[in-house]
Amino acid sequence: MWAIGYIMDLNSDSWLLKGSLLLFIFFGMSLLTRFLKNLKYLPAIFMLSCVFWLSMTWFVWFLPDILYTQGIPFILSVMGLLYYFYKTWRTDPGYIKISEEERRKSIVTLAEAGHLDFRTFCTSCLVKKPLRSMHCIACNSCTARYDQHSLWIGQCIGVGNHYYFILFLLFLTMVGVWMVYGTLLYWSEHCATTYRQDGAWTYFTQIVSCSPWVLYIFTLVCFHTSWASLMLIIQLYQIAFLGLTSHERLNLMIQSKCSKHAVSLRKTPYNHGCFQNLADFFQCSCFGMFKPNVVDWTKQYTLTLHPAKGKNIHSV
Ligand SMILES: [Zn+2]
Ligand SMILES: [Zn+2]
Repeated sequence: MWAIGYIMDLNSDSWLLKGSLLLFIFFGMSLLTRFLKNLKYLPAIFMLSCVFWLSMTWFVWFLPDILYTQGIPFILSVMGLLYYFYKTWRTDPGYIKISEEERRKSIVTLAEAGHLDFRTFCTSCLVKKPLRSMHCIACNSCTARYDQHSLWIGQCIGVGNHYYFILFLLFLTMVGVWMVYGTLLYWSEHCATTYRQDGAWTYFTQIVSCSPWVLYIFTLVCFHTSWASLMLIIQLYQIAFLGLTSHERLNLMIQSKCSKHAVSLRKTPYNHGCFQNLADFFQCSCFGMFKPNVVDWTKQYTLTLHPAKGKNIHSV
């Protein structure tokens, strides 16, 4: 991470030399990843090292031009980002754990009732699957109210850590916005040209020669801010307006394409209206205005909340 920026920032005009050194680093990195056995946390390490170097950039490059009062929200955003990353990573997403005795009992009961099929039974974990759960191949476990297996966290996002994941995305977006603000301020203070004055190409060459390190960090910031903000918007839409997880929405969209009849994303038993969905997800009563439903999705096998709407339940 640092070496790439250091090479770009080298006091040399030869981009051929810089390009060769960069190629050498990429070659070394690809060799290293081949030898590393557990690549599960590689994206997380990449993201955390990005956060470290962009914080360093903020303090060394941007802080002299920025008021100290503007520095505090940035520090709080970085702290929030690291805290919620840790909480998402360390909290059990809702892996289905049962004892050997319970496992044997459920297999016998399901076999006797003739329900031993893949929709209600996980053949890898040998457990009866709760509603909204899904077997994750990467974690080799069933996860309650499964949303996705996040590459950036290195584990599943389920009922246990979904809330922390949303806040992690929010803080990552906030850090990104502050960094974009700091970069634009840096360029306006230290680069001799402006976009309006000399046009796009001159402005671009100026900011490249002004500080290649800042441009490199800005590219990384744009990358992380784009995926985090996009995912945050999609997640909030799914939670508030559909009451669904990413996995359920994807499944319904595939069903909708394959089926002759239109499958509605809004008409599912999990959608209780925008405010109630938010209250249920965040378990917030909003000063007594809402009554959040408390459901243990690790043990919920049948839908009892709204039995009248239960006809779509197995299709979700
Ligand atoms: Zn499983
Ligand atoms: Zn997983």
